[in-house]
Amino acid sequence: MTKDKMSFNILTNCCTPSPKEIDHSQLPIAIIGAGPIGLAAAAHLVAKNVSFMIFESGHTVGSNILQWGHVRLFSPWQYNIDKVALTLLEESDWKAPVMKRLPFGKDLVEDYLIPLANLSQIQPFIQLNAKVTAISKQGLDKMKNAKRHEQPFIVYVDKNGRSERFEVRAVIDATGTWGQPNPINADNVWTLEEESLSPYITYGIPDVKGKDRSKFEHKRVAVVGGGHSAINTLLELAELENTEIVWILRKNRVEEAYGGESLDALPGRGQLGVRIHQLVDSGKVTVHTPFLIHQVSREGDSLRIHGTADNGVSSIEQIDEIIANTGSRPDFNFLRELRIDVDTATESVSALAPLIDPNIHSCGTVRPHGEAELRQPEKNFYLVGMKSYGRAPTFLMATGYEQVRSIVAHLTGDQEAAKRVELDLPETGVCSTNISGKNSCC
Ligand SMILES: Cc1cc2nc3c(=O)[nH]c(=O)nc-3n(C[C@H](O)[C@H](O)[C@H](O)COP(=O)(O)OP(=O)(O)OC[C@H]3O[C@@H](n4cnc5c(N)ncnc54)[C@H](O)[C@@H]3O)c2cc1C
Repeated sequence: MTKDKMSFNILTNCCTPSPKEIDHSQLPIAIIGAGPIGLAAAAHLVAKNVSFMIFESGHTVGSNILQWGHVRLFSPWQYNIDKVALTLLEESDWKAPVMKRLPFGKDLVEDYLIPLANLSQIQPFIQLNAKVTAISKQGLDKMKNAKRHEQPFIVYVDKNGRSERFEVRAVIDATGTWGQPNPINADNVWTLEEESLSPYITYGIPDVKGKDRSKFEHKRVAVVGGGHSAINTLLELAELENTEIVWILRKNRVEEAYGGESLDALPGRGQLGVRIHQLVDSGKVTVHTPFLIHQVSREGDSLRIHGTADNGVSSIEQIDEIIANTGSRPDFNFLRELRIDVDTATESVSALAPLIDPNIHSCGTVRPHGEAELRQPEKNFYLVGMKSYGRAPTFLMATGYEQVRSIVAHLTGDQEAAKRVELDLPETGVCSTNISGKNSCC
């Protein structure tokens, strides 16, 4: 398949026969997002000899990961590479990493995603700096049923200041959630105050030991959030000189943030818990938990964080910088014209919610799942990867690789393979988030 042939398919909008005469099965499949899961989907489509196109809003593949490129992953290479992608790479002159090592985010992009994207079977079909702004069903609005399943999808893409439209037969949305951080406000609402203080609030995981060092060293820094991102940030801040660290969480007890520690089947993930536990015990971090932030205000040269603690209304003063690691949320804006089914609480694909909703499922381990669980009311449209988990933070790449393996099998008619489960996931070692002793789960 050449790029030109693909463009021919795309540019048939004006003068084509009426929809019922067209065989849409020959149209390409659109993959949105060239992170690890989008690129794995492409590898599986290559293996099945099915045409596809990838739209990536960043200037390179793995754009979201590069924003935390200085962070070491907790899963070793062996879990971070899709099996079919590995086969394709091994057929090229790719130099494989040591599979037991833990890569940094940057390594994942430079040593895996870029070589994968550069393969001759994938590279011609990737569009970079191409942001998908809308997806629709050809000639139909969301309310119309008429032959809906038979109509192709139309993907609208902003590129070079122009809006382009592409006709495809299926869509795999692998856009992740990294680009939409949650606010620090405990009600999870963006306020004008928080937006106006944005110069002092960093969202994500800044490179505090590298390029962002001067912003945080010799300062009093508040880290908000209780997940792995916050832990990574805290551990790095602890290595700076004369830097006072305040950790603000909503959890009832700080121990809930430590995870499975030595029980975790991924030692790298367990170690994060072990190390933060030691750091807190050492007294280098002042912990405020539970502390529910209402508002932040600027007072003179510093910030004051207002909120509610166990003992009533409270505030934390003299903060120079805030680092927000309060999770992220999926972007559904560009899916407005599609019929999608997401869970009301987690915003994950509905069928996944019982597996990942921390309110009802306290085990950190999610069983592998495939096309059947990910199926949407809009036929041949799928949310995959980090985005399929909605607001839940427990996603692993290995889970996403299994998702796209099963979806591609389904889209290419191999229903038996689509139903098969081909993945063993490492356990988190956390069987209850209820540290008080009531083991509500396994
Ligand atoms: C700090 C950190 C450490 C992690 N460590 C691990 C680990 O050790 N092991 C593990 O298995 N998982 C880990 N994860 C979780 C997860 O596997 C990663 O977040 C992974 O990058 C998710 O892959 P993805 O392909 O779903 O999404 P992403 O990697 O976020 O990729 C989405 C892509 O879509 C693009 N995009 C977004 N919107 C659009 C649009 N509208 N149009 C076109 N393109 C768009 C983005 O630019 C991006 O390139 C970690 C996550 C974080 C944040």
